[in-house]
Amino acid sequence: MRVAVFGTKPYDRRFLLAANEAFGHQLKFYEPRLDADTVELARGCTAVCVFVNDVVDAHVLGLLAEGGTRLVALRCAGFNNVDLAAAGQLGIEVVRVPAYSPHAVSEFTIGLMLALDRKIPRAWNRVRENNFALDGLIGRNLNGRIAGVVGTGKIGALVARALRLGFGCEVLASDIAEDPELIEAGVVYVDRSELLAASDIVTLHCPLTPDTHHMIDDAAIARARDGLMVVNTSRGALIDTNALIRGLKSRKIGGVALDVYEQEADLFFEDLSSEIIDDDMFQRLLTFPNVLITGHQAFLTEEALSSIAGTTLQSIADAERGLPLANRVDASLVRPG
Ligand code: NAD
Repeated sequence: MRVAVFGTKPYDRRFLLAANEAFGHQLKFYEPRLDADTVELARGCTAVCVFVNDVVDAHVLGLLAEGGTRLVALRCAGFNNVDLAAAGQLGIEVVRVPAYSPHAVSEFTIGLMLALDRKIPRAWNRVRENNFALDGLIGRNLNGRIAGVVGTGKIGALVARALRLGFGCEVLASDIAEDPELIEAGVVYVDRSELLAASDIVTLHCPLTPDTHHMIDDAAIARARDGLMVVNTSRGALIDTNALIRGLKSRKIGGVALDVYEQEADLFFEDLSSEIIDDDMFQRLLTFPNVLITGHQAFLTEEALSSIAGTTLQSIADAERGLPLANRVDASLVRPG
């Protein structure tokens, strides 16, 4: 199948080309993201392959349909950037990679917690300058703390297990469906507001939906324990960033580790080191000593990239042959608030 691959980075190209040896699709790689300005590049391509920040709204989908596109293949798990209702009306199928490597994201999440809590980036900066003083580097043990995991699907379950069984945290969880194996491992399900009020650490692993949008807001922060640590490797808009900044300024929040950010589409995945950044909210976040941010890289392991490429190209091959699409997403997967 002829496929326009948007937002291509060198690593996407490398893993997709390697996996495509088994499929022989005609892959056309484009560096820009898919949006209303770049959609023309997909004209004549039966499929487009996109990532988390491509714009796949009703307008773009309409233009894709006009150009002959019948399939949107997301090379990620989340699909909040796609207007699924519009896709359905236009007869465009949407597929994703529901589970490429939950370990990649869960391990990175634990890494962020440890790096933030034990001040590892600050320590490394000091050592590089031959400053071996330890003042200001006092951390906290994870052991014995109360960790709240919101969303115990593939990634959240691994994080909950690691925190409970690996580090000896008390783990609270909230989800619309409980996982009996986690309960057996000692994880305690509570409702979301109880979790947010009782946890020392809150880590987010649920999808972005109307119900979860800005779940960490002024009200949630006001009810939280003093010194709360917030970790988000899921989707930026789960957190009201302005509220987070207010919480940091008031010292109510003791630490923040983010791999995702609600306005990340204007920043992440690009080298902007010589640019002026207009996003004052993001720049303010960077000024706090107790904030650690990475640019949406939790998925970025050899295993995950290889799995993403293979699953995406398999879905495209299945669509080409008219086979049932195992990784199809449609509007019924979005649970309204
Ligand atoms: P999953 O579908 O396996 O798990 C999501 C869980 O959230 C499910 O158990 C679901 O029941 C639960 N959930 C849904 N609505 C909820 C609600 N309102 N409140 C509480 N829980 C709710 O997904 P996953 O593979 O574990 O991925 C989790 C999220 O991680 C994805 O939605 C995606 O946004 C994000 N992600 C980020 C990266 C990254 O690189 N940072 C990579 C992959 C996925």
